Amino acid sequence: MKCLFLGVLLSFNVFFLFAEEGLWPLHVDSTFWKSIQVQGIKLDQKDIFQEGGTSLEDAVIRFGNGCSGILVSENGLVMTNYHCALRYMERIATEECDYLSNGFWAEREKEMPIAGLSVRLLSQTLDVTDLLCKEAWKTMSDKERKQKIQEIERQYTEEAMGYEARIVPVYSGNQYYLYQYQVFKDIRLVGAPPLSLGKFGKDVDNWMWPRHTADFALFRIYAGHGNSPASYSPENVPYQPKKVVPISLEALKEGDFTFVLGYPGSTDQYKHSEVLSNLVQVSYPVQIDLMNKYLDLLGSYMKRDELFEMRNTAQYGSVSNVMKRYQGFIEGMNRCQGIARRKTEENDFVKRLESNPSLGVRYGTLLEEMKLVEQEKVAYAIPYSLYLNGWGMVALLQKALFVSELDKDHLNWQKINRFLREAQKGNDSLSLSMDREWFVEVMRSYLKNVPKDFHFSSLTKNASSLDEWADSIYEQSALSDTLKVRSLLENNFDQLKKDPAVSLINEITSLYVEKVWCCLPLLSQRLDSLKKEYVAARMELFGTENCWPDANGTMRFSYGSIKGYQSENVTHSYYTTLDGMFQKVRSGNEVYAIPSLFHELYEKKDFGDYAVNGTIPTCFIATNHTVGGNSGSPVFNVSGELIGLNFDRNWEGTISDVIYDESVCRNITVDMHYVLFIIDKYAKAHSIIKELVIRK
Ligand code: GLU
Repeated sequence: MKCLFLGVLLSFNVFFLFAEEGLWPLHVDSTFWKSIQVQGIKLDQKDIFQEGGTSLEDAVIRFGNGCSGILVSENGLVMTNYHCALRYMERIATEECDYLSNGFWAEREKEMPIAGLSVRLLSQTLDVTDLLCKEAWKTMSDKERKQKIQEIERQYTEEAMGYEARIVPVYSGNQYYLYQYQVFKDIRLVGAPPLSLGKFGKDVDNWMWPRHTADFALFRIYAGHGNSPASYSPENVPYQPKKVVPISLEALKEGDFTFVLGYPGSTDQYKHSEVLSNLVQVSYPVQIDLMNKYLDLLGSYMKRDELFEMRNTAQYGSVSNVMKRYQGFIEGMNRCQGIARRKTEENDFVKRLESNPSLGVRYGTLLEEMKLVEQEKVAYAIPYSLYLNGWGMVALLQKALFVSELDKDHLNWQKINRFLREAQKGNDSLSLSMDREWFVEVMRSYLKNVPKDFHFSSLTKNASSLDEWADSIYEQSALSDTLKVRSLLENNFDQLKKDPAVSLINEITSLYVEKVWCCLPLLSQRLDSLKKEYVAARMELFGTENCWPDANGTMRFSYGSIKGYQSENVTHSYYTTLDGMFQKVRSGNEVYAIPSLFHELYEKKDFGDYAVNGTIPTCFIATNHTVGGNSGSPVFNVSGELIGLNFDRNWEGTISDVIYDESVCRNITVDMHYVLFIIDKYAKAHSIIKELVIRK
């Protein structure tokens, strides 16, 4: 178990029992950085993180809502993953300009603004535990706590300068930190390889090793007057960063020290063994089945029409990504006997308590209580999964939900117009027909998997004729016609509220209110507060050694070394090259089809300055602990030079959100040799190469 900066102001000793495990916040005390130095890093703490000064972390960005990235030029050029860029590329691609098939490489003046994309740069980190957790905090209601948090956040928000503040709980709410960011909103696409390279191996290779995916894309941050954030304007100029990172082209070796800075989304290293077993046995299998069906359906529609395919590539990828993670998780938990492992950790905790009677009185029943709450919670697991991945993905029901929540006397037309614009996009005949089929599939799955107690009357009534039921709802509903919706909103609101899809969602919602929302949130809250106590107890019992707080979307440091691994009697090398990539290409599998120019470069060995031992290194693996959100994170060498971009974990590593097993968990990185080779030799984007600081 792992916990760190207990009571912010406590100094903490860090001993490295679990060498590479952990997503460490940057403001850990100097003992941590000293231990890292023992491992060979040539940087001091202040080179990596320095409140008020300039350090490596100033070059690390939070890209969009769920990715990371790195500043690589004096002119605000940013590198992140291709898979982080894909949704944005889909938005700007058209039939005439198919950037997915062809890639995108722009001259400076033609860089493409991406509406809705933002980049965050961390400007300040502040421990606010003492400000919040005074005596009064304990007696405050949730609402009052939220207000208090917002009040402090407001003090650090300065809209004119683009500053935004977020307070987040650390250690399951035992501490609170405030992160202040500068938010840039004029972000333009500069370059991206074609999908065939950027997502080489597509969803077949996702979560797998060996890998040859050129998972990178380039964006530029634009700023307004005084280098400050501004909304898009043609007058804006490239942002001048505080810190720019050089790229190293030195050949990499097994055993080389590496580290990662980025924004991992969430981990749950204290998940109770009972929760783990419910995930493995109950919740994930049903969700996998449902997602599998969704992908089959979406895939069959994508084959019918190129435009539909282009518009749904990212959606397909993101559902497949989650589904495979769940599959890998079940396999991984079985392989490493994760549940038994967690039980052992829990037993250790109980034993420690036994030898500490005073703490035993306070915390003695915690684990048992957690187990009981989880046992109650499991009854809601499937209805909840169906709510998220079932109803949540039926477009008609989502539109109906929006309409059902509208209040005739308080119509927010700005919100409505946004909704109508979005709804319009899914109103082509293919999307509507697929949505109808998906509706039937979700209802079928609900009937099969959800206990009868949670069934609602129209479902029971139509159980034997789901197709006919769907036909009648989709035919009679006005919600697939945005003009009709607008006109009903303006002239016959009551009629709109009686729409069959709206009536159905109302029926589903009241069932959930009565049977799920009545109880599930309370149980979750209870579990959260038990978890908070459990974490506090572990911190007291085990001290602060090896302790890191679960990831929560804030900047973290992880470290490790470049290393292969052994799994199922297969030895996996630490790196891949273009030669391995072309073995896949020659297999003829369509997921490995690549552009002819790329073939030519390979045949002619036209590798420029980027070859190592006569070929291009493509990707490598290391023991850095990374999770979702780390996509696009810079991977550095001992000197803090950029050697690659983290983009995935291996199949065995899908468990690392809850259990990090150093023997098999690996992060997958696209090598800078490969990235620069594509920019320079394939895209011939020489002006981009000139902007970079490259060390050979
Ligand atoms: N496979 C994931 C993706 O394509 C990222 C890997 C991770 O979560 O570490 O988004």
